[in-house]
Amino acid sequence: MAIQQDVAVRALARVNLAAIERNVARMRRELAAAGALCAVVKADGYGHGAVPAARAALSGGATWLAVVAAQEAATLRAAGIHAPILVMGALAPHELDVALEAHADVVAWDEAFVAAVAARGGGSVHVKLDTGMGRLGTRDAAAATRVAQAAAATDGVYLAGAMTHFATADERGDAFFGEQLARFEDWALALKAAHPSIILHAANSAATLRDAAAHFDMVRAGVAIYGLDPFHEDAAARDLEPALELRSYVSAVKPVAPGESAGYGRRFVAEQPTHTATIPIGYGDGVRRALTNNADVLVRGERRSLVGTVSMDNVILEVGSPPAAAVGDAAILIGSQGEERISAEEVARRIGTINYEVTCGLLPRVPRVYHRDGKPA
Ligand SMILES: *Cc1c(COP(=O)(O)O)cnc(C)c1O
Repeated sequence: MAIQQDVAVRALARVNLAAIERNVARMRRELAAAGALCAVVKADGYGHGAVPAARAALSGGATWLAVVAAQEAATLRAAGIHAPILVMGALAPHELDVALEAHADVVAWDEAFVAAVAARGGGSVHVKLDTGMGRLGTRDAAAATRVAQAAAATDGVYLAGAMTHFATADERGDAFFGEQLARFEDWALALKAAHPSIILHAANSAATLRDAAAHFDMVRAGVAIYGLDPFHEDAAARDLEPALELRSYVSAVKPVAPGESAGYGRRFVAEQPTHTATIPIGYGDGVRRALTNNADVLVRGERRSLVGTVSMDNVILEVGSPPAAAVGDAAILIGSQGEERISAEEVARRIGTINYEVTCGLLPRVPRVYHRDGKPA
C-alpha cells in the first residue's frame, strides 16, 4: 500500500522500519564489540508485525530472533528468514515438533525434555535457570547443570546456550535484579567454563540499558527495538524512536447544543455549545474502552479530548466552536503531529497498563503499513 500522509483511512498502524533498524543499532552500541543482539519479535512483533520487524531488526544488526510460540518461528521461516531463532516459551509435544521442524532452538529445564528433543531427531537447546522470575526454568542450579550435561551428552542434541530472565529489570534501584544477576553468573560462568561454545544470555531491554554486567554474550531486546521505553517513561529521552503510529480520520463533525449527549450511556453531555468529531476507530481495533473520557487525540496538530464512551467502532472528540476539525482531517491516536506527540506510554499510563500491552493490543482489523522514514518500504 502506498504511503500518503493525510489520506483519510478508517484505522491504520504505520510502522517505520527505519526506526526499528536505528533502535537495534542504538541498543547494539550499548554492547561490547562481540556482544550479540537477539531481537524479540513475539506476539506479532509487539503488534508491529513479526516478519517486517524481524527483517528490519536483522538489517539493524540483530543476529538472532526470539519468539515464544513454535508457530511464530514457523511463520518467520515461511517468510524466508534464515537467522537463528530461539523459541522461548513452554512447548507442548506437538509444538516441539513445529519448533524443531522450523530449525528453531528451544529452551530446556528438565532432562525429559532433552530426551524428547532427541527422540524427534534432535535440535539445539538453551538451558534455563529460574533465578527469581518464578515462571519457566528450574530454580535448582545443580539440576540445571544436569540438564545441560544431558544435552551435551545426547546424540543429536546440541547445547547451544544458558539463560535466565529478570523480574525487576525495569525497576531501577531495586536490589532483586542484582540478586538474580549474581545467581545466574555463579551458575552460567561455571557452565561456560565446561562448555566454552555456549551462548550466555539474560538481559531484556531494560537490563541491557541498566547494567552492562547483565549483557553476557547476547541480549534479548524486545520493547526497545520498537522505540518503546523499557522503563515506561519517555523513549525519546533514551534515544529510542517509536516505530508505530496509530491513525484514523474525522468522519463526521456535528454541532452539539447544551444538554445534548454523545455516545453509549450519555457519558458526555455538552455544557455549552460545541462540536464533536467522530473518529471511526474503537475497541474492535484495539483502542481500549478504558480510554472513555480519558484520552487525547491529535487533530490539526492540537490535542483534542476524547469524550464519551469508546465504542467498538468509533470514538468521539470534542472539537469546540467553531469546530477545529473538518471531515477528512487525520486523527492521530499514537504518534506525533506538528509539535504534539502522544506516546504509547501516555496511553498506557491513562489506563493503568504498560506500553507493551498498548501495541500488542492492536487488533487484526487495523492494517499495518510499512515505510522507511515516510518513503515506501
Ligand atoms: C519478552 C521477553 C524478552 C524481551 O523483553 P523486553 O522487555 O521486551 O525487552 C526477553 N526474554 C524473555 C524470556 C521474554 O519473554
